[in-house]
Amino acid sequence: MITITEIHQARGQISDIINETPIITSKQLSSLCGNNVYLKGEHLQKTGAFKIRGATNKVKQAVKAGATFVTAASSGNHGQAVAYIADILGIDATIVVPEDATKSKIAAIQGYNGKIEKCGFTSAERLPRAQELARLANGVFVPPYDDPLIIAGQGTIGLEILEQLDDVDVVVVPIGGGGLISGILTAIKETRPQVTVIGVEPEMANDTYLSLEKGEITAIPETRTIADGLRTSQPGDRTFPIVQKYLDELVLVSEHEIRQAMFFVLERMKQLIEPSSAVSVAAAMFNKLHTQGKNVVCVLSGGNVDVGKLSRILPQ
Ligand SMILES: *Cc1c(COP(=O)(O)O)cnc(C)c1O
Repeated sequence: MITITEIHQARGQISDIINETPIITSKQLSSLCGNNVYLKGEHLQKTGAFKIRGATNKVKQAVKAGATFVTAASSGNHGQAVAYIADILGIDATIVVPEDATKSKIAAIQGYNGKIEKCGFTSAERLPRAQELARLANGVFVPPYDDPLIIAGQGTIGLEILEQLDDVDVVVVPIGGGGLISGILTAIKETRPQVTVIGVEPEMANDTYLSLEKGEITAIPETRTIADGLRTSQPGDRTFPIVQKYLDELVLVSEHEIRQAMFFVLERMKQLIEPSSAVSVAAAMFNKLHTQGKNVVCVLSGGNVDVGKLSRILPQ
């Protein structure tokens, strides 16, 4: 398991690249749920999501070790982050995407000079291909979450929250493969253990919920939740033990609640967030936190939405 030391080191590594993102307040959201609600705005991060933190930590280390080529398997935020940081550091990146990846996502990766390779429709097909491409060309494969440097990079969000709000009581975090939450858990529980950390999953992608219940990593079948950043089928070998050790609570939100939360943040707060971010707001809005009068930080993990599809995502 990683420790707080690695998160401090990660911060030193990535601070010249990433934004320290703002904390946004909402009176309306606060009165809706009876807590003082703050939103940590990683939708305003470089490339539009927090993934650039872990990717920068990992790719910088690879470059130091002599790598001139990296690969990743993701059409989403992770793929964009890896392409972006590789471009800045002057090395090549190939991102393996599904055959049906949307044009806007491919264009974003190509905009950062990332090379695209299409492969299959599932991550079970993409992952080995990205690993193979790295192996064939002496490159480094950058995993989306199950890696100590990735986890440490994402954990820098936890350090920022503790500095930006010194009387925080509760932090609410979306869970996909668990890189984001295991980094934040390590940063917070090894600095201020009295802070409560609550994870959120869509009901349709409750793999970490089931894994915690069973006491072992448990996979779910393929899911089509609108929170596409949270569709991972199971928690990681490295992330799950951290979640088991430190997580206080895990709550589930419905697809309708996710849409409502995204709509609220767009209409009332003028912030465009993606469905995977909206799960943390949904947990607060729909009173799933079981706290009152506390200082609550919901992590907005990203803001990458195909704007042409907004009307299909928002509640009708
Ligand atoms: C990747 C991602 C997540 C989930 O992060 P994990 O580290 O896989 O748990 C949440 N929100 C957004 C926007 C993401 O891109």
